[in-house]
Amino acid sequence: MATFKDFRNNIKPNWCPGCGDFSVQAAIQRAAANIGLEPENLAVVSGIGCSGRISGYINAYGFHGIHGRSLPIAQGLKMANRELTVIASGGDGDGFAIGMGHTVHAIRRNMNITYIVMDNQIYGLTKGQTSPRSAEGFKTKSTPQGSIESTLAPLEIALSAGATFVAQSFSSNLKQLTSLIEQGLQHEGFSMINVFSPCVTFNKINTYDWFKENIIDLEEIEGYDPSNRIQAMTKLMETGGMLTGLIYQDKQKKSYENLVAGFKEEGLAKQNISLSEEEFHKL
Ligand code: SF4
Ligand code: MG
Repeated sequence: MATFKDFRNNIKPNWCPGCGDFSVQAAIQRAAANIGLEPENLAVVSGIGCSGRISGYINAYGFHGIHGRSLPIAQGLKMANRELTVIASGGDGDGFAIGMGHTVHAIRRNMNITYIVMDNQIYGLTKGQTSPRSAEGFKTKSTPQGSIESTLAPLEIALSAGATFVAQSFSSNLKQLTSLIEQGLQHEGFSMINVFSPCVTFNKINTYDWFKENIIDLEEIEGYDPSNRIQAMTKLMETGGMLTGLIYQDKQKKSYENLVAGFKEEGLAKQNISLSEEEFHKL
């Protein structure tokens, strides 16, 4: 049985020392091992950005895609081989700016994949511009007077789009993050996990200390029920989206590929790999 070390490879990450993405990488490796996966059972797809490098640092199938497109690639992978456990990953710029159209439709499609967003509230790879997650007033090279745009609320959008699994964590909390990724991987349907993952080089506002002061752990909210969608939306709105933990889960809804005719018993790859295009479209 694989351990988290089996999901390591010999490539040294070139993230800045202290970048939150290191913990996300470690949490994926631990979660995969904890639920009994072997490296050949897992595919990690990423987009573009510092976070996009993650697919190269995990010993599993990997695909470093193009900007904002990790979800279409991940969904294609899952449809072609539903026996693979598929993780899509990326940053807040990748998933909530150029990729937002894909994000919303992947959520409502509810395919059985896990989407992990490394949310550092800035564009790191391009050296520090505002992202859709940057706060109003946030000063960067692209907004020297301070951002005048509203901050996007991705988890409220996810709930509105019909998400069946919504969670949020903090890269400093490896235990919680690992547990939420495990739950996401085991959820039937699309699991969305937003991770506060500080950019220590370009974001001097949303630092580790800032997150520690502002995060509200759901364990502190008495009587919180993650099956209650209205409560999830209300609490997100009340806390400015700073909740961490399992925010919402619908365990009843079937995933997309379990509802598609022809995919019910086995994936396409197992059914008949030599389908013509015409036959494929008849499925
Ligand atoms: Fe991480 Fe920021 Fe460095 Fe990119 S620039 S590797 S996001 S700390
Ligand atoms: Mg970012």
